Amino acid sequence: MAKNIQAIRGMNDILPADTPRWQALEGVIRRLVASYGYSEIRMPIVEQTELFKRSIGEVTDIVEKEMYTFDDRNGDSLTLRPEGTASCVRAGNEHGLLYNQQQRLWYMGPMFRHERPQKGRYRQFHQVGVEAFGLAGPDIDAELIIMTARLWRDLGIAEHLRLELNSLASNEARAAYRSALTDYLQAHHEQLDEDSVRRLATNPLRVLDSKNPAMAEMLAGAPKLSEYWDAESREHFAQLCERLTAAGIEFVHNERLVRGLDYYNRTVFEWVTESLGAQGTVCAGGRYDGLVAQLGGKATPAVGFAMGLERLALMLEQAQTLPVRAEVDVYLAAMGDGAELPALRVAEKLRDTLPGLRVLQHCGGGNFGKQLKRADKSGAHVALILGESEIENDQFTVKYLREEKEQETVNWSELVERLKFLALG
Ligand code: ATP
Ligand code: MG
Repeated sequence: MAKNIQAIRGMNDILPADTPRWQALEGVIRRLVASYGYSEIRMPIVEQTELFKRSIGEVTDIVEKEMYTFDDRNGDSLTLRPEGTASCVRAGNEHGLLYNQQQRLWYMGPMFRHERPQKGRYRQFHQVGVEAFGLAGPDIDAELIIMTARLWRDLGIAEHLRLELNSLASNEARAAYRSALTDYLQAHHEQLDEDSVRRLATNPLRVLDSKNPAMAEMLAGAPKLSEYWDAESREHFAQLCERLTAAGIEFVHNERLVRGLDYYNRTVFEWVTESLGAQGTVCAGGRYDGLVAQLGGKATPAVGFAMGLERLALMLEQAQTLPVRAEVDVYLAAMGDGAELPALRVAEKLRDTLPGLRVLQHCGGGNFGKQLKRADKSGAHVALILGESEIENDQFTVKYLREEKEQETVNWSELVERLKFLALG
């Protein structure tokens, strides 16, 4: 027998049992971004490798070891996108969306990173990204964070998430801090783990990200980034905090929050949960004022975030807060050969009369018991039964599958009356 071919490790099928929760989540997100006036943009999944190297940075984890890079048939180096911001800026520049303009954009789709698969960490995963261009002030940073806070409330998971905030300040301030931090880490070289030794040479700020408890005390004594903030960044951060407080959003200032991509400056933030184990960051973002110019556009301030849908779906599965609608409202059973054609007409007439009603028509024949068993298994709210006597009398038998209610036999207009609420979802 032929060996079964399996999916690629870390790349998941999302099965019919789970897609209703994904659709509900995506629906809440679509309504959210629309309610803040953001427009959708859709970018290709593959880009030139150079795009990610230039934006995310050559010595980041993503570019160094996580990208799916391959040569196209004509020899160009291409990469499956590991994130959306770089593509979004590329598209914005290419189509003149960013030049002297303000844009509020969002996108949703699969991203690819060659990481070690584990709960909440996959090789194909899905992000929703939101990006705002042409606005430099803390008002837009606050808008993005307020939007995410609303999302957690809409999803019923706000109590499980905490906001961490920091400012990476200006490039100059960060460079001064980097050299002070490097001196400190070098002086404590013997306490660094292997990863940190590597990062010290390439990207010392990332050492602050270490979760290694053996280094916690040493890192707590490291110089603080906020001591190196430039005056404008300090003011920007203060105003952002003021707006968040005014909006009733709690946050903690985490001095060690630095993010793993090179393009960030000033505001960075993460929404973190304790309910997913080690993969606790559900949403992360920040300001990247230099990126548009770095990718060839006119200097344009920008800020954005991305959230991981798998992690959100896991949280929703645990919290069970998002109502997921059953996929079938009415299961139409036809009893006897003479009922099949009338049933077909009734199914179509129901779909005409009550748009939005989900009608599953029994196929494959079988006796009453078998058809009702399938009706129950379908998750339908009611079974609609058409037998010879119903057809003769122009009537319909309604059997309630999910409530304690007597079966009844009704005429067409009574039937529509009874099914109307199901069509509204
Ligand atoms: P982490 O610290 O968890 O590796 P990151 O800093 O690499 O995250 P970002 O690049 O900021 O993550 O991506 C934003 C969000 O996308 C993350 O907060 C997370 O929810 C999600 N995400 C990132 N990588 C993965 C992955 N491999 N599998 C599933 N979700 C992911
Ligand atoms: Mg990562």
